[in-house]
Amino acid sequence: MSLKVGAHVSIAGGVDNAVANQVEVGGNCGQIFTHSPQVWQDPNIDDGEAARFREGTERDLEGPWVIHTSYLVNLCTPKEGLREKSVDSMQKEVDAADKLGIPYVNVHLGAHTGAGVEGGLDNAASVIDDLDVPDGVTILIESDAGAGTKLGGEFEHLAGVIDRTDTDIDVCVDTAHAFAAGYDLSTPEAVDETIAEFDDVVGLEHLKYVHLNDSKHECGTNKDEHAHIGEGHIGEAGMERFLNHPDLTDVPLALETPTEDGKSFAWNIDRVRELRRD
Ligand SMILES: [Zn+2]
Ligand SMILES: [Zn+2]
Repeated sequence: MSLKVGAHVSIAGGVDNAVANQVEVGGNCGQIFTHSPQVWQDPNIDDGEAARFREGTERDLEGPWVIHTSYLVNLCTPKEGLREKSVDSMQKEVDAADKLGIPYVNVHLGAHTGAGVEGGLDNAASVIDDLDVPDGVTILIESDAGAGTKLGGEFEHLAGVIDRTDTDIDVCVDTAHAFAAGYDLSTPEAVDETIAEFDDVVGLEHLKYVHLNDSKHECGTNKDEHAHIGEGHIGEAGMERFLNHPDLTDVPLALETPTEDGKSFAWNIDRVRELRRD
């Protein structure tokens, strides 16, 4: 299978610029925000931009792209106002995905803030079922580092939302998040065990994207800080096994690695290509 790997790239100046930005770092798939993720804002994509994005993707990339939703979205919230804003924001993201020909919209489950795990999972499923998801677009719920009352740190949470929704949804595993949440990925054996556990609890057929990041913190710390590929606590041996695990070779990878120490997305994508044996 061919390696699908790219980075989270900017859409500054127009979403169609994401294609050139992806090519520049050596990616052939990847992730975008449709607007600043720190604020409530609507995607603002005109027809020309969307057409150029689709043409560029078709011409220069293998895809698939994934949209990462706003950090303010909280599917698990018991607060009515926040729930409504989350529904509204999610609807605009899945509509933007439809317009851009993007098959996936990635979202964090968010924090239950007192609703409890079961209540939070119920809330998340109910928000998703309130959406009108266009054909060809699938929501991916992202694994979380599991700090505080945030859900998605345990694979059971992801399975719990899949079980509760009437909507077909799938999963994006973020390797740094899963590791921080307590799933060891730092040795070949640990990677195999974690993948087997994911398959048991969620099912590998639901794994449609991976955020490939190393972790600046140790396994089980619930601390979410991404490191360069092979240079964090997951390390080279864990990354190498993850990249060559026979069940994962066709899953697209989006890097959300830092841009520091003079190491860019291009450096990290090169590292992935070195560690992968094809
Ligand atoms: Zn995320
Ligand atoms: Zn992520």
